[in-house]
Amino acid sequence: MKLNRIYLDYAATTPVDPAVLKAMEPYYDPSTSSGQVFGNASSVHSFGQQSAKAVDEARVTIARFLNGQPTEIVFTSGATEANNTAIKGTAHCFIVSLLNGSGKTIKQSNNRAMKPHIVTTAIEHPSVLESCRALEQIGLAEVTYVKPQSNGVVKVEDVIGAIKENTVLVSVMSANNEVGTIQPIREIGRAIARLKNSKTQKLKNNLTIKQFNNEIIYPLFHTDATQAVQFLNCRVDKLGVDLMSMSAHKIYGPKGIGALYVKKGTPISRFLDGGAQEFGWRAGTLNTPAMVGFGKAIQLLNGSIVLLFQGQTNLTMKQSNNETMIKLKDALINGIIKTIPNTSVNGDPINRLPNNINIRFNEIDAQTLVMALDQAGIAASAGSACASGGPEPSPVIAAMLGEPAARESVRFTIGKWTTELEIEQTVGILRKLVKRSRAL
Ligand code: PMP
Repeated sequence: MKLNRIYLDYAATTPVDPAVLKAMEPYYDPSTSSGQVFGNASSVHSFGQQSAKAVDEARVTIARFLNGQPTEIVFTSGATEANNTAIKGTAHCFIVSLLNGSGKTIKQSNNRAMKPHIVTTAIEHPSVLESCRALEQIGLAEVTYVKPQSNGVVKVEDVIGAIKENTVLVSVMSANNEVGTIQPIREIGRAIARLKNSKTQKLKNNLTIKQFNNEIIYPLFHTDATQAVQFLNCRVDKLGVDLMSMSAHKIYGPKGIGALYVKKGTPISRFLDGGAQEFGWRAGTLNTPAMVGFGKAIQLLNGSIVLLFQGQTNLTMKQSNNETMIKLKDALINGIIKTIPNTSVNGDPINRLPNNINIRFNEIDAQTLVMALDQAGIAASAGSACASGGPEPSPVIAAMLGEPAARESVRFTIGKWTTELEIEQTVGILRKLVKRSRAL
C-alpha cells in the first residue's frame, strides 16, 4: 500500500488492510453480490442468521488464535472498554461476592470486609490506569502501581511481591504502547499460578468440601495485549491469564471493535445490562461488520507475522516475516543514533516489539519536533495518542527515566507498509530538523 506521506505511527492506529475492508463490505452494502447479510445478528430470520454466522466465525478465528474457547471471547468497542471491564468488573464482582457472604477467606482472615486490592504497573495504558484511579477515588479499591526498571521492563518479583491477601487482580500489559518493551507475562502468570496452588492447598486443608467449592481463588491475572497481538504469542494457556484485552485497529482491522478474553469461570461482573448478546455479558446489537473485520485481521496475522514462544524465552523475534520489520527498525535506530548527536534509545534495546523506535533527542522539545516532522510530511508521536494532545510529557517515559527524558522523547512505530526509502528519508529530515532546532 502506498501512503502519500510517511506514516510512522502504527502503534497509534493502522490503516485497514484492503482484505479486511473487502471482508466487511457485504455487511454494510446490500448491493454487493453477497450483500444480503445486514441483518441484526439476534434476529431469527435468515438475514439475521447469516449475520450471526459471520460473527460466530470471527469469534472462532479469534478464539483459535488465543487458544481459548469461542464462548470466552466477548466483543467490545475496543481495548479501552475491555480494560475498563477487566479492572472494574473484577473489583465489582468481588465486592458483590463479599456482600453476598462469599469470599470468606479474605474477609475472615482480617475479620472485616476488605477493599479489593489491584496490582498493576506505572506504565499501563490510560484505560487501565484511569480505571484503577477511578476505583480508588470512590474508595472501592486500593491499587499498587509497580514501577518499571529504567529499561521499561517490570520485574516479576516486584509484581509478585506487591500481591497481598486482598489482591483480586494483577494487571500487566503484554507490551508497552510507547516504548514497545515486552513484559514477562508468562513468568508472572506462572508465579501467580504457584501462589494460587499453595492457597488452594491451604484452603483444602482448612475448609469443608462445600465451603471450598464456594471459594474463589484470587488473584486473577489480566494482560492488555493490544500492542502485542500482532507480534507475540498470545496463547492464553501459555501465558496463564484469566483476562486479555485486544483491539482490532492496531492490527489492520477497523476502529471501534476489540475483545476481552474471559476465561471460563472467571468472577467478573457483566459489562452492559440489556439484551442477552455476547452470552449475556455485554448487551447491544452486534456490530457485525466490525466483528467480521476483526476476525479477518486476526486471520491475516495467522501464519504471517506472529512471533512464537520458543524454548524458555518469550522474546523469540526470529519468525521470518518479522525480520524485515526488525531490519527497518534497526535501520531507523542506527540512522538516528549514529548520525544525530546526543540521542539515545528509550526502552530495552532487545526486549522490545519489532516495530517500536523511541528516541530521546537531548535538548529538543518532543512536541515541537513532532509538529515540525508533520510539516515535513512525517507522522510520529510524542507520548501515546491517547495521552498526547495536552502539554503533558509521556508518563511512561517519566516513570522509566524521569520528566526531562519524557519531554525530549519521540516515538516512531513502523508497519507492514513501511519502506526502506521512508526510513532513509526520515533519518535525513530528522537530521536537518534537530540541527536547526539546536542551532536556535
Ligand atoms: N491499550 C493499549 C496498550 C493501547 O495501545 C491502546 C490504544 N492506544 C489501548 C489499550 C486502547 O485501545 P482502543 O483504542 O481500542 O480503545
